[in-house]
Amino acid sequence: MGSGQVTSSVPSGTSEFQGKHVTVAGLGVSGLPAAKALHARGAIVTAVNDGDDARAREQAAELEALGITVRLGDGATLPEGTELIVTAPGWQPGKPLFRAAEQAGVPVWGDVELAWRLRGPDAAPWLAVTGTNGKTTTVQMLAAILKAAGLRTAAVGNIGVSLLDAVLGDEQYDVLAVELSSYQLHWAPSLRAYSGAVLNLAPDHLDWHGSMDAYAADKGRIYEGNKVACVYNVADPRTEDLVREADVEEGCRAVGFTLQAPAVSQLGVVDGILVDRAFVENRQKNAQELAEVSDVDPPAPHNIANALAAAALARSFGVPAQAVRDGLRAFKPDAHRIAHVADVDGVAYVDDSKATNTHAAEASLAAYEPIVWIAGGLAKGAEFDELVANSAKRLRGVVLIGADRALIREALARHAPEVPVVDLDRTDTGAMLQAVTEAKRLARPGDTVLLAPACASMDMFTNYNQRGDAFAAAVRELGA
Ligand code: ADP
Repeated sequence: MGSGQVTSSVPSGTSEFQGKHVTVAGLGVSGLPAAKALHARGAIVTAVNDGDDARAREQAAELEALGITVRLGDGATLPEGTELIVTAPGWQPGKPLFRAAEQAGVPVWGDVELAWRLRGPDAAPWLAVTGTNGKTTTVQMLAAILKAAGLRTAAVGNIGVSLLDAVLGDEQYDVLAVELSSYQLHWAPSLRAYSGAVLNLAPDHLDWHGSMDAYAADKGRIYEGNKVACVYNVADPRTEDLVREADVEEGCRAVGFTLQAPAVSQLGVVDGILVDRAFVENRQKNAQELAEVSDVDPPAPHNIANALAAAALARSFGVPAQAVRDGLRAFKPDAHRIAHVADVDGVAYVDDSKATNTHAAEASLAAYEPIVWIAGGLAKGAEFDELVANSAKRLRGVVLIGADRALIREALARHAPEVPVVDLDRTDTGAMLQAVTEAKRLARPGDTVLLAPACASMDMFTNYNQRGDAFAAAVRELGA
């Protein structure tokens, strides 16, 4: 859906933004449609951006052609007369612009807040998902389930599809599957989802939020005002704490998901079957079969958890059990998320390049045994002791790449001294072929060679996609 659509058919003079001085902070995926939507509603918009690279200039030209003022290369100063800031979600709360806004009593909204406020009176309800890991997968599973139930829906939000476009575009929806990052939640004070889920909580983006508590509190915002269900992870008690702390609508229920047999008001797993003991008649006695574990692709434990969370949200919206199974069967994971690349000489090669933090890597390491693990890259301040200690017994061997590999090597020396480690002292892109060659040498038939770097990729690659592609290319080269 083009962002141009959001400006269509808004009668001027009828909006709360008419004549209001609004500063849009940050161009890009959310800033451009926000500036256009506000301008179309009669706001006097100034767009500010820290950088002034070629892309920003192109976007600035587009906005200026509409009569919007743009200031490139200066995102720090609060434009005179600003009555409201609409910020790109990634802008850090500590920025001078926001300090100035606070002093001046100017409210700050994010893109999600703006979309929430601009949605029409008959707008589709939101089923919202957050968590440190698994958001995109879960939201895509949820959309597939809702579609299988015949509902008009889309996976939107932090997944690359602007919520503003979804909310203001011409397409009609019955319900939206919404992925929300902790940043977006931070800037969305009045959001009230129909049902919300926090999949898990592990330290991430702490530099942005300031502390683990602040990060958790922002994630917990997803539960505020929920109507039907607050979905939490039984294995991660902090997610349940967040439910307890939330103010929800009368009658809204806490619904847990677990990989064990479910208690009352939970979804869980019994003998390889996903079952619902929350959204059934007489849940003290009854349970409803939803799908088989083998319907989930890949059937790794953390991904079963994602499927249960998606099912819980869908069931809270009244979706029948059959649609859960059909939707999960129709779902195909995005690239580089535990993607099976090939079997070579009895060894499976799996690309989880998207495992860019230790929590994600630990989940994928838990899904295989024995493993030759390819890890390393940019650590972003992470510590590896827990990950290595918890995974040590599954490791056949380890191949380390990237700038911060010494941190992992040291953790391996402390917690898995007997595991052979190959340390690759090169960071050019050709290193991946060598890494896979070393991994092949360490692996025995029945093993899995798993790229789950636990680190960001930008020291060696453009992004995690390129890293995963390099892995797959190397595997094909070796297999040929
Ligand atoms: P997000 O959108 O939160 O980044 P994704 O669905 O894109 O999550 O998955 C990112 C990575 O996180 C996956 O490649 C996998 O390694 C890991 N992952 C997915 N689901 C979970 C989960 N429930 N718990 C832990 N790690 C997970």
